[in-house]
Amino acid sequence: MTDQLKKYLFQDQSARVQAVKLASTWQTGLAHQHYPACIQRLLGELTAAAVLLSSNIKFDGSLVLQLQGDGPVALVVVECTAELTIRATAKLREGAEVPEDGTLQSLLNSNGLGRFMVVLDPNREVTDMQPYQGIVPMEGETVAEVLEVYMRNSEQLETRLWLAADAHQCAGVLLQRLPRKGGVQEPSEDRESAWDRALAMTATIQDSELLELDSDTLMRRLFWEESLVAFDPQEVRWWCPCTRERVANMLRMLGEDEVNEILTERDHIDVSCNFCGKPYRFDAVDAAGLFIEKRNAPPSSEDSVH
Ligand SMILES: [Zn+2]
Repeated sequence: MTDQLKKYLFQDQSARVQAVKLASTWQTGLAHQHYPACIQRLLGELTAAAVLLSSNIKFDGSLVLQLQGDGPVALVVVECTAELTIRATAKLREGAEVPEDGTLQSLLNSNGLGRFMVVLDPNREVTDMQPYQGIVPMEGETVAEVLEVYMRNSEQLETRLWLAADAHQCAGVLLQRLPRKGGVQEPSEDRESAWDRALAMTATIQDSELLELDSDTLMRRLFWEESLVAFDPQEVRWWCPCTRERVANMLRMLGEDEVNEILTERDHIDVSCNFCGKPYRFDAVDAAGLFIEKRNAPPSSEDSVH
């Protein structure tokens, strides 16, 4: 089964629900990144949250969650594009000890100097809008609690999040109360009680349910008394723009002499993507090829300037 984001609407339009569950996508993302379990959990929760928020905020571009930590974790970056491709990385502070039970607060905000930002980076191909940066107050113990406060302030809509992650999967549910449509006269107590009921039902979600059940089964279990309209699922994929060709270009920029010097000390050059950790290896033959290709290439417009 592919990894998907699913959206549902309560029949009375009092609230919407989104659910995301990532398995192979998440495993691909972690394949070259070796984190302690508590950081996998933190990164997974942020990844699930990024998918839920980016599809909730109507916006053509990337949503980036960026955390600068003052504790064992120096930096976390999670990106979700409008096409629901994701990537996520965490950088540990050198020499720092990661507590086994590390949390958002103890890993990134141990001295109260952590910074959490939501960046909306518009699709440059369709707009010249500038990126928007919102500060997320680090108020709350968990990723979900902290983002709920942010959503309440930025969207003015009551929003609840449930997030869970381990080494194999990450998942999340977003429940959001919808404003009443203008002109529709209906007793507001009904909507109040509909929201209270939805909250009471989702409040029982366990991490194990988030991780083990597929979204439709989870929704049926939570909202078996309600009528929910389900929308077409959207596929979520892992995608990092790193390629062997990009690394090759980086080595070309380093220069033939430098590359040859490295190769006198060892058999090959290993370069890992700074973001996803994917390794790229160049041996002496590959390295020689880099510069032969360059010499034989027809002069580019850039070269002809000189
Ligand atoms: Zn990469």
